[in-house]
Amino acid sequence: MSQTSASAAREILKRLHDVMAARTPAQAKLNSVVQIIGEALNSEVCSIYLLRDGVLELYATRGLKQEAVHVTKLALGEGLVGTIAEAVETLNLDEATSHPNFAYKPETGEELYHSFAGVPIVRRERAVGVLAVQHAEPRRYEEVEIEALQTVAMVLAELIAGAGLIDGLGTTGRGTRDTGPLRLSGLKLVEGMGRGFAVYHQPRVVVEHTVAEDTEAERHRVYSAFAKMREQIDKMMREAEFGTAGEHHDVLATYKMFAYDEGWGRRINEAIDSGLTAEAAIERVQQRTRMRMREIDDPLLADRMHDLEDLSNRLLRIVAGQLGTAAQMGLRQDSILIARNLGPAELLEYDKRRLKGVILEEGSLTAHVTIVARALGIPVLGRVSDVRRTVADGDPLLLDVTQGVAFVRPTPPMEEAFEAKQALSQKRRAEFAAMRDLPPISVDGRRIALMVNAGLRDDVAALDVTGADGIGLFRTEFQFLVSATLPQRERQQRLYRDVLDVAGDRPVVFRTVDIGGDKALPYMDHAPQQEENPAMGWRALRLALERDALMKAQARALLEAAAGRTLNVMFPMVSEPWEFDQAQKLFDAQRAWISSRNRMLPTQIRYGTMLEVPALAEVLDILLPKIDFLSIGTNDLTQFLFAADRANPKLAERFDWLSPAILRFLRRVVVQCDDANVPVGVCGEMGGRTLEAMALLGLGIERLSITPAAVGPVKAMIRSLDLSRLRPKMAEWLALPPENMRTTLREWAEAEGVAIS
Ligand code: PEP
Ligand code: MG
Repeated sequence: MSQTSASAAREILKRLHDVMAARTPAQAKLNSVVQIIGEALNSEVCSIYLLRDGVLELYATRGLKQEAVHVTKLALGEGLVGTIAEAVETLNLDEATSHPNFAYKPETGEELYHSFAGVPIVRRERAVGVLAVQHAEPRRYEEVEIEALQTVAMVLAELIAGAGLIDGLGTTGRGTRDTGPLRLSGLKLVEGMGRGFAVYHQPRVVVEHTVAEDTEAERHRVYSAFAKMREQIDKMMREAEFGTAGEHHDVLATYKMFAYDEGWGRRINEAIDSGLTAEAAIERVQQRTRMRMREIDDPLLADRMHDLEDLSNRLLRIVAGQLGTAAQMGLRQDSILIARNLGPAELLEYDKRRLKGVILEEGSLTAHVTIVARALGIPVLGRVSDVRRTVADGDPLLLDVTQGVAFVRPTPPMEEAFEAKQALSQKRRAEFAAMRDLPPISVDGRRIALMVNAGLRDDVAALDVTGADGIGLFRTEFQFLVSATLPQRERQQRLYRDVLDVAGDRPVVFRTVDIGGDKALPYMDHAPQQEENPAMGWRALRLALERDALMKAQARALLEAAAGRTLNVMFPMVSEPWEFDQAQKLFDAQRAWISSRNRMLPTQIRYGTMLEVPALAEVLDILLPKIDFLSIGTNDLTQFLFAADRANPKLAERFDWLSPAILRFLRRVVVQCDDANVPVGVCGEMGGRTLEAMALLGLGIERLSITPAAVGPVKAMIRSLDLSRLRPKMAEWLALPPENMRTTLREWAEAEGVAIS
């Protein structure tokens, strides 16, 4: 805001302050407001329209005929005023009648006036009214005047909300009368259905006080909020390396750029100069940027705009002292969480009995938050680009991730259809549950090992619920991820022992920690490292072998937890055979130490590696004689094969697991393992999808470790599949790939009566 507009606004706000403080009825206040603004802007007409019962009603005017007050009404989208409210946009016209939407209202006597400027009165991001000025001389209002009007509109929003003059604007939520039902579609991240009310992960601040009492104090509040925000961003950048924060590194880098941008701070300060509170000033600048950006049609800029909005909201929350996430504030019953993105640790903070689903603006299929949500059985719809623009806090939602859609503010027919579908899916779940004790045997008699992936203590219960053969991947880093401090050896050991106790005779494969990115855990004392490519960085075994205190403690915990039983241990991200040798040597040394103390050891230790790094496939002949089993981690493997970051939402839908490149690669690995007589399985998310699982079986894989919710559908697929018919077909398709492998596989499954869901 320039100096002149700041001073114009300051003059008006000073006078408005007295009006607002006076103990007069709301109508009298509005009457005074139109006088003040009309005079200040030298306009013959100044009018206020408010949204009442879904229509815009003339509430106060200077210059138009007084008989029109409470009589003139316009629908949303009708006339200039309706257009402003509907589009939440400013209009500035030197000749009002030239606008295609101009609607003449004879009772107002407005035919005398030529020029027209109007701004929306916005509350909780929707227009609740319009403030308009008109002038007899055809002239365009100047930028400074428009800005002053916009500032005043913010103050008006406070005044009219406080007086309860507009639709459904109580303190608990926003009215929904002016917004209809909506269908949003997105990417199916975790399938399932859920019904509840929208809750923002980072609750929005509603600015309650707009006119400042003490400008200096407001300036100081903004100053300290900026300092705090910068501190937070720097901390998030450090945590992002560990993978616990929800935000992608690029987003954080942009946050940082804006957080240190002087122009932004200066504009907020200027808004404070005009007489606004810190909160109102931040929002005012945010609104103005939003309007400017709307005029520029550039997707890249739109992305940056999201970043700036996020940061503005963060700054607002800091100033308003509303720092917690919805998790920390306590969820209401039946909530559907809305966020741009989430980290696994952030998701785990929520009470999962109350959380019925998650809608993300970003997200990808193999991001850790998706894996955690899948483990918890919480449906997640991702890549819903405008969810935060179209859904308000408290809006009723129906989430149907099996279809990839969410219904916002649903109509009764939408609800009925949803209920019918939910009943059907419950019936199917009951059918799968009834299969719990049936073995996963194919039609031609092949017994497939069907195991589950786990990582949280609660996951282990899934063994009994699903009737799985064991835990094929226990992600030990989850314990590290959800802890505020480094889990000590005793705590690790207790978890491992509990898991083995529940599993009983069923095998559990413990994977040693796979900490993502630069492994600077926030609670570890070495300096954080900045890595350009954390997925390809100093992670998993690479870190563990170098900083071996962590790995030694874990080895001891595992060996002691499995005393008197079989221990299956697996190393992540092995790229070359020597890494396996070294890891095994470390375990051996720990075993010798325990033995030297005459403590009980596992009866048997089986060592395996994950195949996630493509290079390892080239040296399998060297590795296979050393190991007891191999487990293919398709999540990482495919990101490296395709050179496509698994956490990058822009690439989430680009590559298909059923591409010939991947299938051929996997087939070569299977053949080598079979020749060397080493059991091979798949533990990536790919195996939990029925069509993909069928393809894997077709390649010769007979061990799958999948998310618990997929056990029923995958078992049903196996029990309806004749492998002796699929395998020769698969060999043909690999030799000469069809144009679309996915379609070909689906059509084959359909023709053969294989249960694909
Ligand atoms: C994988 O990479 O496929 C895998 C199972 O490990 P994670 O998803 O934990 O990286
Ligand atoms: Mg992996």
